[in-house]
Amino acid sequence: MEWEPDAEKELDKIPEHVRKMAKMGIEMSLEKKGKNVVTPEDVKEAASHFGALMETDEKDKKTTKIAVVRCDIVSETCPGVACFKAFNKRKMHFGEYGPDTEIIGFFTCGGCPGRRVFRLVDSLLKHGVDVVHLSSCMLMEGGYPKCPHIDGIKQMILKKGVKVVEGTHH
Ligand code: SF4
Repeated sequence: MEWEPDAEKELDKIPEHVRKMAKMGIEMSLEKKGKNVVTPEDVKEAASHFGALMETDEKDKKTTKIAVVRCDIVSETCPGVACFKAFNKRKMHFGEYGPDTEIIGFFTCGGCPGRRVFRLVDSLLKHGVDVVHLSSCMLMEGGYPKCPHIDGIKQMILKKGVKVVEGTHH
């Protein structure tokens, strides 16, 4: 693949750590189009693409990703509104989170003794979860008894290297 001198100058403007990958990407894309000369315009187009990808990566790195696990039994009567309200207003146990925080999962334990938690935390780890909140319904004594398996569930999550916060909206 031939590179026009101005195309090489444009390539030098791409950050070094992604330059090699960008070069390969440009050449492969042009080969598919049946071209054998790289122009400055080709590089500019690729640079804007890589720039967008890097911005997305940076944003992703800054975002705190949280999930909430709740009681399977309580979920039959509770749609989770209070948990989401507390999160949206950054109240109670969500009070310390800034705007760069997202809920990426809201799941039930799967029934006693929390049989689904292990697998779902594994799945959430693939999406970069940082923190799992144990919902207030698992912790409170009231209309329902406090979850008798809470310690086991908590340890199960901690063993995966994920921070645990006890509580959501109470
Ligand atoms: S393990 Fe705890 S949270 Fe899960 S269903 Fe049983 S009581 Fe509810």
